[in-house]
Amino acid sequence: MRIALVAHDNKKQDMLDWARFNRGSLGNHELFATGTTGALLEKELEFDIVKLISGPLGGDQQIGAMISQGQLDLLVFFWDALETQSHDPDVKALLRMTVVWNLPVACNRSTADFLIASPLMSGGYLRDVPQHPGPGSSKGVGA
Ligand code: PGA
Repeated sequence: MRIALVAHDNKKQDMLDWARFNRGSLGNHELFATGTTGALLEKELEFDIVKLISGPLGGDQQIGAMISQGQLDLLVFFWDALETQSHDPDVKALLRMTVVWNLPVACNRSTADFLIASPLMSGGYLRDVPQHPGPGSSKGVGA
């Protein structure tokens, strides 16, 4: 599966702890991350991670675009619910894309634990995604 990982500054330690704990599982997947999160994770995990632009500079929007283009299967997004971010509109847009495209998303460690431990992580799951143009859905994107 293609997994994107994003953590706001106050949540980066949480992300590192979670990723270290789940290192074995994460190694079976293709990993993408916003710039700073990715650099920290690469150091922690010693895996290759595709590093996008830093979140406040456009990385969240890159991930949103990847979702809409069917290039991701799961998002782990530890966003900071206690502090306003300079790029709040991008955060909201990214979360919106996960709903529009029916993408599994974990915004806290317990949900991320449930997702990474799911038998569906081994592939074969086809998500319903919107048909475009227009409303409705079709089976189309999956791991
Ligand atoms: P960062 O971006 O990984 O580059 O810090 C995360 C974010 O704030 O969206």
